[in-house]
Amino acid sequence: MDTQMLIGSRFETGTETEEHILNPKTGETVLNLAEASLGQIDAAVDAAEKAFVAWSQTTPSERSAYLLKIADAIEKDAQGFATLEALNCGKPINAVLNDEIPAIVDCYRFFAGAVRNLHGPVAGEYLPGHTSMIRRDPIGIVGSIAPWNYPLMMMAWKLAPAIAGGNTVVFKPSEQTPLTALKMAKLLSDILPEGVVNVILGRGESVGNTLINHPKINMVSITGDIATGKKVLQAAAKTVKRTHLELGGKAPVIVFDDADIDAVVAGIRTFGYYNAGQDCTAACRIYADAKVYDNFVADLTSAVSSIRFNQADDTENEIGPLISKRQRDRVESFVTRASEHKHMEITTGGKVSGDKGFFFAPTVVAGATQEDEIVRREVFGPVVSVTRFTDVEDAVNWANDSDYGLASSVWTKDVGRGMKTAARLQYGCTWINTHFMLVNEMPHGGLKQSGYGKDMSVYALEDYTAVRHVMINHG
Ligand code: NAD
Repeated sequence: MDTQMLIGSRFETGTETEEHILNPKTGETVLNLAEASLGQIDAAVDAAEKAFVAWSQTTPSERSAYLLKIADAIEKDAQGFATLEALNCGKPINAVLNDEIPAIVDCYRFFAGAVRNLHGPVAGEYLPGHTSMIRRDPIGIVGSIAPWNYPLMMMAWKLAPAIAGGNTVVFKPSEQTPLTALKMAKLLSDILPEGVVNVILGRGESVGNTLINHPKINMVSITGDIATGKKVLQAAAKTVKRTHLELGGKAPVIVFDDADIDAVVAGIRTFGYYNAGQDCTAACRIYADAKVYDNFVADLTSAVSSIRFNQADDTENEIGPLISKRQRDRVESFVTRASEHKHMEITTGGKVSGDKGFFFAPTVVAGATQEDEIVRREVFGPVVSVTRFTDVEDAVNWANDSDYGLASSVWTKDVGRGMKTAARLQYGCTWINTHFMLVNEMPHGGLKQSGYGKDMSVYALEDYTAVRHVMINHG
């Protein structure tokens, strides 16, 4: 197992506070890893600064070749990466191997192609005797900070567009899930020039905080909690850094009376509970038309109670545990508070499961209303609420009545109704008759307090590059 940080071309062990890295399936410690010192953070930023001089002058085709090599190397060691990610996050091995790794490999390949094919306004004489052209140039050193729910995928979403765009990076994984980032550090040091990507370890309030306040960091990219995003904005204000924020969600799902209920139930069973609901796009807040509500709740309850988890043979598991005891306790407290209200019913799940690890049974909370905490706050666990509506206007207004604005979906057989509703939803993404599906060609990112950075797609490449105007006087 790789356990050292990457600073320039050196592999180093942190010298500060140790973090216990846990196996969420058992609660046992896998190993302890010490976080970076201030000197090591500075050294990583200096290495990125030094590397930027040459890296920012490489051609798109050269950077593309590096990205393709990274993709190939991950693909070749897919089993190794998947095993480590499954260990550190408690994810079912098949989910990592068959869903996540191919998407991660494709992310590097997508940006390898996209960086060679950027478009912009045409150069021309917009002032007589002068030619103007637009350039898209790198921003500089990017401080990238990732969450624990998809460690390797968030690393890909952040590194691929940043280095494709000609930037250099100091990357900090979540203190809870650093293992695949350390394996990536080894892989990246074998492929990339020294200092283009540096990987440092540490907690948010110490190492993360130093990174977002570092005077030499030009851009901060973070995926995490809204509260963390606000801290990034405050820090960024001091030196006017660019920021790229992905800050969670509470995805509404509108189920119309003409929807294919079997398809909705199958969809929510998957898209509400994938990764144990620790997903910012999870289909967790359902508004179902009163005409189909009772049947829908009954069928969903039965489907959700069949989700397989905590089986000894991991290949049978559909979902894993929560990431930590703290997260599991948080999820449990949301469900307990919901169950104390008479108008809500826990139709399945609702409790901690097993005596080892951090499992929580997949849960449906029926009868929730718009003002209930379970409808308003991000639970980030295997818990879906269902709310009844009789007026379509209410459903759309309730869906939009949220601080979050990341993802949403509409389920109906009527294409016009689906399109009309999608147009009114204030979310970075709206799916019709599906949910959760992502492709590297299309952007992922939010509105409102979900943030404004776009991951994946050419829009991410735009976020990680600066538009510049060059004007030539004909003389
Ligand atoms: P978190 O905000 O606690 O931590 C995210 C990262 O930020 C970690 O690496 C952490 O160490 C770091 N961090 C924390 N405090 C910091 C500070 N003061 N300064 C600098 N860095 C700091 O979030 P989490 O608990 O790891 O992840 C779950 C959250 O992330 C959820 O809210 C979820 O919705 C969100 N999320 C959003 C997306 C998206 O695309 N919008 C994707 C995945 C997760």
